[in-house]
Amino acid sequence: MTADRRPLVAANWKMNKTNTEAREFMQSFLPEAEGIAADVDIVVCPPYTALHTVTDLATGSRVRTGAQNMHEEDSGAFTGEVSAPMLLELGVEAVVLGHSERRQYFAETDAALARKVPRALHAGLLPILCVGETEAEREAGETERKLRHQVQSDLAAVDVARLPEVVIAYEPIWAIGTGKTATPEQAQAAIGFVRALVSDRDAAAAQDVRVLYGGSVDAGNAAELMALEDVDGALVGGASLDPDRFLSIAAAARP
Ligand code: PEP
Repeated sequence: MTADRRPLVAANWKMNKTNTEAREFMQSFLPEAEGIAADVDIVVCPPYTALHTVTDLATGSRVRTGAQNMHEEDSGAFTGEVSAPMLLELGVEAVVLGHSERRQYFAETDAALARKVPRALHAGLLPILCVGETEAEREAGETERKLRHQVQSDLAAVDVARLPEVVIAYEPIWAIGTGKTATPEQAQAAIGFVRALVSDRDAAAAQDVRVLYGGSVDAGNAAELMALEDVDGALVGGASLDPDRFLSIAAAARP
């Protein structure tokens, strides 16, 4: 983490919490989060069904809300999908794109992400683009090839001037929801490599772009991971479902 980039922690609730459970979380989380959010961008990404409640409760606080996916078109015959204008009207400010679970279970492609990332930026949503390798790819020495392919393809249509506004989350798939965290050396090497890939497009943008680590982050390992030079925060799954655990992680991101 460097003083030049504002840290960001995002809670990815995945398919967890009903509307009532989301309300209970926010009522406990918001009063404590407000002080931390003076120094750290905090984004809560509930399921679509709880976005209205979470965004309403967060109004007037420094905590922001994000969706977990978005279609690149504004409207049309895309059953089950949600668009940027729909999210914006609720007061949503960010969107997770290309999470490995969407890539793995719902056939999210790099071609679609190459349309979604610029669309989110154009709409005024903060895109949090997820990239990362499988365990087999890491063992085969393919981590850099995979990251290069994802970062180059998914950001291909983003103007250089807007690159600094993209947030990239490096999430090794073998560390997501497994309790296996990347070592600090692995996390720094991969995230430094992601920043170098952005630098291939524009050196100044690479200094500004925020790159998060994700994969079994919890209160016990957050400080060590976020102290790494190129790590600007965390995308948190399981540990973000509990207000106290997520508050500890957010506090660990303070510069
Ligand atoms: C995630 O959902 O992006 C994630 C990193 O999950 P977990 O923290 O549970 O590994």
